[in-house]
Amino acid sequence: MSVANILGEKGRNVITIQGSSSLLDVARMLSANKIGVIVVSEDGVSVDGIVSERDIVKAIANNGAEVLLRSVSKFMTQNVITCQDSDTIENLMEKMTKGRFRHLPVVNDGKLDGVISIGDVVKMRIAEAQSVADAMREYITTG
Ligand code: AMP
Repeated sequence: MSVANILGEKGRNVITIQGSSSLLDVARMLSANKIGVIVVSEDGVSVDGIVSERDIVKAIANNGAEVLLRSVSKFMTQNVITCQDSDTIENLMEKMTKGRFRHLPVVNDGKLDGVISIGDVVKMRIAEAQSVADAMREYITTG
């Protein structure tokens, strides 16, 4: 099971925002789209950074609510770890565990091409385990 399989079901739509937008814009987009991160990108193709709901909480805790009017580029994570279509679920779990984050933008041939969340990984793991259990059950019952 790979990133390509996950995105085949989920789709490749990515919500992006430009670095000059405010943290308030980010909060509104996260809420409206019911997501946990937004990829920061000037052109919708390259990955300039990533901003998560955790970054907003941290920014407010450190600076007060006025920070919501400042630009996202000041608070995003710049060194973004990405994955690509050929990565396996095991690769994704390793990257998320090592980096202690729950999201991975997908970049194929230098272009932003999807986002994987920890929820997508868990869903696929459960589906895999279910299909192994079904195969075992069939093997046992059909002899
Ligand atoms: P998350 O657990 O994904 O909500 O993010 C926790 C922290 O990790 C936040 O500071 C994010 O900006 C950062 N982060 C999220 N995804 C990535 C990623 N793929 N690469 C690097 N940092 C990330």
